[in-house]
Amino acid sequence: MEVVPISQFSRPIIVISKCLGFAACRYDGQIVSSPFVESMKPFVEFIDTCPECEIGLGVPREPIIIVLDGEKRLVQPASGLDLTEQMIEFAHSYLEELADFDGFILKSKSPSCGIGTTKVFSDVNAYFDSDEWFSRNENGFFADAIFEEFWHLPIVDEFGMSDTMIRDHFLTRIFTLASFRDFWNSKSIDSLLEFHTRNKLLFMAYNKELMTIMGNIVANHGGLKVDDVYEQYLQFLLELLSSPARSSSTINAMMHAFGYFSRNLSARDKFLFLNKLQAYREDSSVLFELRELLRSRVEQFKIEYLYSQTLFSPYPSEISDSF
Ligand code: SF4
Repeated sequence: MEVVPISQFSRPIIVISKCLGFAACRYDGQIVSSPFVESMKPFVEFIDTCPECEIGLGVPREPIIIVLDGEKRLVQPASGLDLTEQMIEFAHSYLEELADFDGFILKSKSPSCGIGTTKVFSDVNAYFDSDEWFSRNENGFFADAIFEEFWHLPIVDEFGMSDTMIRDHFLTRIFTLASFRDFWNSKSIDSLLEFHTRNKLLFMAYNKELMTIMGNIVANHGGLKVDDVYEQYLQFLLELLSSPARSSSTINAMMHAFGYFSRNLSARDKFLFLNKLQAYREDSSVLFELRELLRSRVEQFKIEYLYSQTLFSPYPSEISDSF
């Protein structure tokens, strides 16, 4: 099987912090270069935004910080401005106006965009006196609004993107959700069945129980309307993709695939495959090699059912190959 060409992957739509490679909009006039984001650009549609610019702060600007003085506030120490309400209002109205999208990539440590990595000060004086923060695991205000409204969608920052497994899980989720959106547009149960069939082994790796429930939803024994079936299916799909696939269930799914062609393999090739599986058990970063190995075997033995299985190629390999 050839690597699935770019045109066959649905294009995820991702909301992203603008300073991550789109504009020099940081408080100090800098842009942050992210090789991961660059590698995604040919495959992903980005909607970039800078919440601090959107509420009227210029570039460059005096820094803003979070203080936790009784309640969480967003303030600009140099001007004495309290921007809390303005930022909360912007964040919610911005998110409400967004149409279809599949996830978020945010800049870490920012008082607006950070995900559990932002500094918090006890008050403005602590910032002026010694730049002494008392915690560094707060969300920024824009990120807070995202978690309130879209907690069920993939959300990652550039720290997460540097971790192989977090990155793999994030990419798998956004490309699967984008594909689901495309299938939904066709408004037919047959399309949903095709989506489910293509993803069967991937879903088996994520959560076999939920995969079975989703199969029953597709069967639509209750004769529901197409949109209701898709809606119901989506709830389980989001739940299934909410936690990374465990290595034990990924191995089960791969063994299932292996069963389709194992009898055609020489003893040596069987040994090589099982050896690689054992290596994956001990080190999850071997997943990519294992996928590659299975993909080459599926191609060699031309097993139709496995050709379209997303388990071997959940997102364009060019993205992961760039790391
Ligand atoms: S972290 Fe967010 S608010 Fe800060 S510059 Fe980047 S996009 Fe703008």
